[in-house]
Amino acid sequence: MKYNLVGKIIFNKDITPNKEKVIEFIKQAENDILKKITDLEEINFTSEYKIENKNSIQVIICTKKKSAHIIFYRIRKSLAEYLGKNLHIGISSLEIKFLKIVFPLEKLPQEDISIPFVNVIEFDKNEKTCAIELEKIDKNFITKGNVERIIKRIREKIDHSYYEGKKEYHKVLYESPKKNIKIDIDPTIEMVNRNWIAPASTKGKWIYWAPATNIFNAMEKIVLEELLIPLGFNEMKNSNIVSGEEIWLKTGHLEGMPMEIYYVAEPKTRNTKEWEYFIDLVKITQEIPYDEFKKMVQLEPLKGLAYAQCPSIYWALKGKTITDDSFPILLFERTTNSFRYESGGRHGIERVDEFHRIEVVFIGEPNDLLDLQKRFMEKYKKIFNEILEIEWRMASVTPFYMQQAGDIFKEDIEEGQLGTVDYEAWLPYRGSREETEWLEFQNFSIIGEKYIKAFNLKNQKNKLIWSGCTGIGLERWVAVFLAQHGFNIEDWPDKFKKYLDKMPKELKFF
Ligand code: ATP
Ligand code: ZN
Ligand code: MG
Repeated sequence: MKYNLVGKIIFNKDITPNKEKVIEFIKQAENDILKKITDLEEINFTSEYKIENKNSIQVIICTKKKSAHIIFYRIRKSLAEYLGKNLHIGISSLEIKFLKIVFPLEKLPQEDISIPFVNVIEFDKNEKTCAIELEKIDKNFITKGNVERIIKRIREKIDHSYYEGKKEYHKVLYESPKKNIKIDIDPTIEMVNRNWIAPASTKGKWIYWAPATNIFNAMEKIVLEELLIPLGFNEMKNSNIVSGEEIWLKTGHLEGMPMEIYYVAEPKTRNTKEWEYFIDLVKITQEIPYDEFKKMVQLEPLKGLAYAQCPSIYWALKGKTITDDSFPILLFERTTNSFRYESGGRHGIERVDEFHRIEVVFIGEPNDLLDLQKRFMEKYKKIFNEILEIEWRMASVTPFYMQQAGDIFKEDIEEGQLGTVDYEAWLPYRGSREETEWLEFQNFSIIGEKYIKAFNLKNQKNKLIWSGCTGIGLERWVAVFLAQHGFNIEDWPDKFKKYLDKMPKELKFF
């Protein structure tokens, strides 16, 4: 890493009568900082100070390894002391006019890279380095660590260009026995034809009439009676709307999937008088006056509909010190729907913009969670093989090296224990089991300390705490079941039918 900085120290009065003294004090302040650096020889520090005008000094700092911008701002405190005590001069501000950083890369970019705040970005193919130039950056920008995150983002973009188009990691951990399936019906089309479901008023969402709801209810009963009640989970209810600042900045959703979120706008005011013009326009034109509407709603602070249920649960535990006897925390939530703007990917009830999911969350000591994982696996296996009787498989989608990375946990981790395992099923209407993409109908994740740290969950004895969740997508359970078993209820597995209430009458239309 090489740094070149051009900065400016601005004083609250004319320094020209004391200019030599001022520069001497800057050198002293600089030494106070450098004294604390252990590998001083390696950082190759040089500096130059020049009177710029009567109340400012230009600073040029060059370093290797240690950040010039951080050293520059650290000078302020002791310099202020020296100047105040000896010359009664105060510092108004420190500004960085120009900062150039050259940093090493593991890989060279395969395409042009653009990045905010950076005026110039250049790559040296022989040296395998990147040089960036920034101008006019303020203290806040530096102290928040934005410069370091610019470098991180550039490396991330380069890495990303190598992964793009490559197949995701997918290691099959279990395959169910093969089923002799003779059906190839797209369940959505059949359900629409039978008036079990109908498109909702906005894209990618469905109205589930009584027959479809009856099947959803059977799935929920299975999940509760075969899985969650025996494993000791308790039901809770979540809020539907999620705060950007409080939740999605911490979970990374605004970095990872801002293009999939359904955003929510609040009215700017509840005052009827202020809405009068809007109401008049609606009454007279019977149309929505969008120009006026935009004036009446607010997008800040950012809010949206739940993308997943679990982040809000962690948020509600934020900063709390949880007592020992509260662990393991075993909760599930099924009243909040999840919303995702799937756009061109939408299909039937399998990939919708609003889905019903039972989200199961567990927080506890690593050993307890790994134990729980085994019990989930057994129970899921029983449900899919003996009750739903479907053809399915389980695959680890987190590379093994990532499962072990950065964890202080001593026990040996087996493939598929940390990270995410997807549960997938064959949809015969898509084609042969070998040639088509199977549908992920649920997953199971243990994510270590990720959310514990993000939301600062503490515990009485300062033990290592992990968390995880398993998201049971009801649309996808139903889609898989109907795609493999068809619509002839007599043919459905007996064990499943035990959970199914009498099918309600279908609506008929002329
Ligand atoms: P996919 O790769 O299919 O988009 P995902 O990785 O985005 O799925 P997760 O965020 O892991 O899904 O969500 C967990 C579960 O939620 C999935 O296993 C699935 O059951 C359900 N799910 C996710 N997205 C949808 C959707 N658009 N429609 C219906 N169910 C969904
Ligand atoms: Zn979750
Ligand atoms: Mg998705």
